[in-house]
Amino acid sequence: TVNKETHSFQTEVKQLLNLMIHSLYSNKEIFLRELISNAADAADKLRFEALSHDNYFENDSELKIRITADKEEGTLTIADNGIGMSREEVMKNLGTIARSGTAEFLEALSKEQKSDSNLIGQFGVGFYSAFIVADKVEVRTRRAGEQTEEAVSWISAGEGEFTIEPLDKESRGTEIILHLKEEEKEFLEPWRLRSIIGKYSDHISLPVEMEKVDTGNMGQEEEEKEEDEVVVPEFEVVNKATALWTRGKSDIEEDEYKEFYKHISHDFNEPLVWSHNKVEGKQEYTSLLYLPKKAPFDLWNREKPRGVKLYVQRVFIMDDAEQFLPVYLRMVRGVLDSNDLPLNVSREILQDSSATQTLRNACVKRVLSMLEKLAKSQKEDYQGFWDEFGSVLKEGLAEDHSNREKIAGLMRFASTHENTDVQNVSLNEYVERMKPEQDKIYYLVADNFATAKNSPHLEIYRKKGIEVLLLSDRIDEWAMGYLTEFGDKKLQAVTHGELDLGGLESEEDKQAVEKATEENSDLIEKMKTFLGEKVEDVKISARLDESPACVVSSDGGMSLQMARMLKAAGQ
Ligand code: ADP
Ligand code: MG
Repeated sequence: TVNKETHSFQTEVKQLLNLMIHSLYSNKEIFLRELISNAADAADKLRFEALSHDNYFENDSELKIRITADKEEGTLTIADNGIGMSREEVMKNLGTIARSGTAEFLEALSKEQKSDSNLIGQFGVGFYSAFIVADKVEVRTRRAGEQTEEAVSWISAGEGEFTIEPLDKESRGTEIILHLKEEEKEFLEPWRLRSIIGKYSDHISLPVEMEKVDTGNMGQEEEEKEEDEVVVPEFEVVNKATALWTRGKSDIEEDEYKEFYKHISHDFNEPLVWSHNKVEGKQEYTSLLYLPKKAPFDLWNREKPRGVKLYVQRVFIMDDAEQFLPVYLRMVRGVLDSNDLPLNVSREILQDSSATQTLRNACVKRVLSMLEKLAKSQKEDYQGFWDEFGSVLKEGLAEDHSNREKIAGLMRFASTHENTDVQNVSLNEYVERMKPEQDKIYYLVADNFATAKNSPHLEIYRKKGIEVLLLSDRIDEWAMGYLTEFGDKKLQAVTHGELDLGGLESEEDKQAVEKATEENSDLIEKMKTFLGEKVEDVKISARLDESPACVVSSDGGMSLQMARMLKAAGQ
């Protein structure tokens, strides 16, 4: 044929295919969920693009997906009349994985031989999951607005290469033809397919159709067919086909919420919690926001796409609308459906619309109160969240001034109370345990937990039985700089400034220090001369119990920790 080209998959795709086939064999049926999910996305995209291209619907505006099984050929076909793909889009979407950090992640996964579906699931296996059950996959697709002969055929056996060639395709959209492996023929059984669709695809708004089966005379049907009679199959919708967030909360099963999460997040794991709210009145919107259980492999990439899926009056507008959530809540996934934004809204318009600001405040409030609720009533789950995402949430101390107090309340620390590195002490708990004369919350930041725990700065606090919070995340020094008080209590780094134990300091302690300073003035002078410019001052202090000396930062001065960080960064 003319213009038939063979291409190699990007290395990452090969690795993914390999890992996937070996780690997801126990949950093969998910391929159907993934392909239906893509078809639903394609329908969403068409509806959106058609807002500005009225020729896109052609004469086929009933968006749907059709699933047909051909037992003779051993093929399962998933056909949609969504947006379709151009040749370039096919090359990019079905030949590469464009997500930074992917190469490293997959490399690490295959090295460790970890065929762990949780890890691979951080990824969203998507289209390539077709190769779990098929030894050959054909994609026939035509993009909306393009000519019938501009369609594309893509074929691959999932073993390193694919071929691509032009195709004449009457209908708009994408057909995915799976040539099922010999041992996967169960996926041609209508009952099996229907049950999978029911399980995974009730929540999507796109109708999923299958051929009608007349259960009354199923056996006889074949025999009655005449040789050359053309049977036009009748189709029926087999899913609920109502966008989940538009349904009433009480009509939605837990499992439906969970499946919907997987659909929108491309996360293979279940969500931790969610919050579904319909708001009417001055502003009208529906939000369905989820917190994941597990952090994605590229959580630390602050540039990676984040945010909610935005709909306006049930029309899909965009993925990753980041304007509705601050960076420190980048783990949140979900849907926001607004009745107040215009349908032709763009990222630029969103940027400075006051409606956006109101919605954003509302979303942040929802997420924070979802977390507060979780922390109160499901401590273990909350601990799990904190362990995965705590360091990200802390960024909020600096980023979100107006919610600082709330974020502080959600923080969990290691402390001298239990002396382990488990971060499970809240500020409220600390305050409850404070000595009656104590008026400050004490904390210490160090490079790692061992250094924090063994710091000589803790000696006096230990001796007096005062709890100190121990911090050792990379971001702590910076984040804690923004947290100067909690409720009516000030926070104090024990490595900073004059020893200040507030009401806990006795007159005798003070006098002892003064006396020692007088008696040792010669020694102090000698040390100052010896250390020269390296220090600002040398003082006798009551902060040590066993160690002879320690380094203290002046109040407001740069901490040792910060100095080390800057040095490490080459400053
Ligand atoms: P994801 O859905 O997470 O983007 P997938 O691997 O499932 O990843 O799909 C890759 C891309 O291929 C999609 O983002 C989309 O652009 C394209 N694609 C897949 N299936 C279809 C389809 N049925 N119609 C149009 N585009 C599709
Ligand atoms: Mg997908």
